[in-house]
Amino acid sequence: MARRPAAHKASGPASRAGNPAVDGRLVAIDVRSLELHSGGARRVDGSVHVDALRCGGQDYQAEPATVDVQCEVVRLVNGWHLRLRTQADLRGPCWRCLGDAHLHSAIDVTEIAIEGAEDPDMECLYLVDDVLEIADWVRDAIAEDLPSTILCDEDCAGLCPSCGENRNLVRCKCARPDIDPRWSGLAELAQRLEIGSADDDNAGDSAVDVDED
Ligand SMILES: [Zn+2]
Ligand SMILES: [Zn+2]
Repeated sequence: MARRPAAHKASGPASRAGNPAVDGRLVAIDVRSLELHSGGARRVDGSVHVDALRCGGQDYQAEPATVDVQCEVVRLVNGWHLRLRTQADLRGPCWRCLGDAHLHSAIDVTEIAIEGAEDPDMECLYLVDDVLEIADWVRDAIAEDLPSTILCDEDCAGLCPSCGENRNLVRCKCARPDIDPRWSGLAELAQRLEIGSADDDNAGDSAVDVDED
């Protein structure tokens, strides 16, 4: 995949309103600075850096590491309604073969924050003293969107547990662990026939008689 240069956007209206930004990337949004009245809404666009995400003991990196985000802020009578939309492409190891796995994440999530609420569902973890920690929200939303098993392909054949070869690339001669031991004699015969026919091709003389019809 071609690596796009990290987006370096000029400061948008949100930055002019005094929101913390690093290298033009949005880190947090001071929702008070949007000067919204009850019922008023404002969309803040920006770019956010996504740190590597750790999942199943492996690191997954967004590529590019800076993603475009749209955040809608609605002022309620006694709080805020927040909507975050973004997309990210991630790359990291496949859990079966350790090859490259590519993931795409499309995020559209909302949070509600009611002032003085005692119900945790009415609180937003990312809104502290009217400052929305958007970079943290983006990272967590992408992490929650990761699949339960990360694979390079849903049909990934994985590594051979005996010799460690990548079965997507090489067909090793190790016994397949999924063969029922009662059929192992048949598997051996099949392997002998396979070797026999290979010998036929090379020497025309085989210890195993193969009827080729
Ligand atoms: Zn794989
Ligand atoms: Zn093997």
